Amino acid sequence: AKADGKARAQIFHAQMDIDYHYRQRLKADLRQAVADGALTLAFQPQLDIETRKIVSCEALARWTHPELGPVSPATFIPMAEEMGLISDITAFVVESATRECAQWAGPVGVAVNVSARDFRGLDLLTVVSRSLDRAGLPANRLEIEVTETAVIEERDLANSVLQGLADRGIVIALDDFGTGYSSLSYLNALPFNKLKIDRSFVADIGKDPRALLLLSNVARLGRDLDLTVVAEGVETEEQLELMQGMTRVQQVQGYFFSRPLPSRDIAELIARMNG
Ligand code: C2E
Ligand code: CA
Ligand code: CA
Ligand code: CA
Repeated sequence: AKADGKARAQIFHAQMDIDYHYRQRLKADLRQAVADGALTLAFQPQLDIETRKIVSCEALARWTHPELGPVSPATFIPMAEEMGLISDITAFVVESATRECAQWAGPVGVAVNVSARDFRGLDLLTVVSRSLDRAGLPANRLEIEVTETAVIEERDLANSVLQGLADRGIVIALDDFGTGYSSLSYLNALPFNKLKIDRSFVADIGKDPRALLLLSNVARLGRDLDLTVVAEGVETEEQLELMQGMTRVQQVQGYFFSRPLPSRDIAELIARMNG
């Protein structure tokens, strides 16, 4: 057992070494990719649960490394945050997401994710206004998604920036709801219009009656606070039907409807589903 432990420790250290070098390389290449404008966007639809029409699409950053292939945003977004690159990425996402959105058939919105660091590192109001102007898009077609953690990390700044965006008519969504430490009274003081319930609340609703009860209570809470309630991570028809029958969820997003799609494909999907 002792020898086993030693071997394991060696493997562990070797793995750490690989991870370290892998990450250093990814970081260097990410900086280059951002500078070269090599990131792209994928769009995932959010549908009205009753009409089953697409109401908006979330823009998600994509990076395909020339040799290593696709790198998950769960890997490169935290790196970009550490490296001080996130604001460049956010500015790029806002700019291209609004441009794409302006091409879609009908008044479908577009949602972009904003990091805690953006409240400090980026003049979001300026970036957003400039992008909307260039795209010729009304403010209410843009949604800004922010997590509880981001808001809590940057309390005062987050509050004033979000208020400024809300005053212009931009939709503010609280993302991944239920995964952080939310003080609801605090969150209620912020100008949120939309509540995106994290997919961990959806995953088990078909298997566990308590999971469904929990989801339905979170949804009711959101509605009572006058928020549009979205459920993330809808993967099956069963989940969709349970939600429609048993909860006050209004919008749904997830693999059951569509994976995140490249811009040409999302434009086609919107035309097909909403037409
Ligand atoms: P998120 O904002 O919660 O985005 C939703 C994630 O859930 C996406 O992963 C999406 O592909 C995935 N997803 C959608 N439907 C389903 C489903 O039915 N089942 C499951 N299991 N997953 C589903 P993705 O694109 O890998 O992004 C991961 C995270 O990276 C995002 O989570 C967001 O936190 C971050 N991210 C992505 N793009 C950006 C960006 O442009 N800026 C910032 N700041 N963060 C981003
Ligand atoms: Ca999001
Ligand atoms: Ca989310
Ligand atoms: Ca997330």
